[in-house]
Amino acid sequence: MLVECDNCNAVVESKIVGAYVQEMEYDWMANLKFSLCKCSQCSSPILIQQEFDFNCSEEDLDWGVGKKIYPGSLFHINPIIPDRLKKELIESIKCFKASAYTASIIMCRKTIESFASLKGVNEKNLAASIKKLRDTGIINEQLYDWADQLRLAGNIAAHSIDNFDDSDAKDILDFTIAILDFTYSFKDKFDKFKARAK
Ligand SMILES: [Zn+2]
Repeated sequence: MLVECDNCNAVVESKIVGAYVQEMEYDWMANLKFSLCKCSQCSSPILIQQEFDFNCSEEDLDWGVGKKIYPGSLFHINPIIPDRLKKELIESIKCFKASAYTASIIMCRKTIESFASLKGVNEKNLAASIKKLRDTGIINEQLYDWADQLRLAGNIAAHSIDNFDDSDAKDILDFTIAILDFTYSFKDKFDKFKARAK
């Protein structure tokens, strides 16, 4: 089975060393298949979960595309955030996984710039845009602090000869993901709730 190995950072051929189907008593269509795979290159364990694929006909119902459930992803991108931001975040994560930490931080800064722009905030520089995001209530004081630290780290990454290590880059990525996650899931949801409650 072809699987993505985090350790090899590649799609690899793997050997299935064990499998188990969890049978759902009242709904066989909800059965789940779990396969424990072993990476052919580095021998890391990878656990894959499959559901039935309902795109094929009933006669040849088969297991669908495998979803990796172990090891869990290092970063979780909320699917509801706009595509442009998702694309930029994925690029940042790719840089991180390739140990290109400075590039990863620069991509995070760019993501926040795009976020401001998508929210209609286009001030003369990022510092002013982040302030306006706060002043107009799009982000709160806590997220403002994170966004501003992210901006500063992005400036250093772009202009200084100092390099960043993996923990700096991981923190910056986590902040970026949290700002977008908070804004597009919780805040938007809460604003809609408040509007309905009026
Ligand atoms: Zn591997």
